Amino acid sequence: MYDATGSYDEEECPRCGNRDTVTWHFADGFEEMECRTCGWVSDAEELAALQRFGGRVLEREDSTGSPVNRLSARIKA
Ligand SMILES: [Zn+2]
Repeated sequence: MYDATGSYDEEECPRCGNRDTVTWHFADGFEEMECRTCGWVSDAEELAALQRFGGRVLEREDSTGSPVNRLSARIKA
């Protein structure tokens, strides 16, 4: 039984770039991200790597939306 809360943080899926994602916040502090479009699911390690390389993701997806909004969303998360 998962003790987790899902929230729609609109993190960008690293596989398909869609922002229809759910971030699961587990009680013991780690998070998982799940893409509702392509079914991609992170584990905690992958998510940490994604956040480390977030700048590169932002740059790559620059044309699809506002990088400023996305960056501030990351900082809040
Ligand atoms: Zn996806």
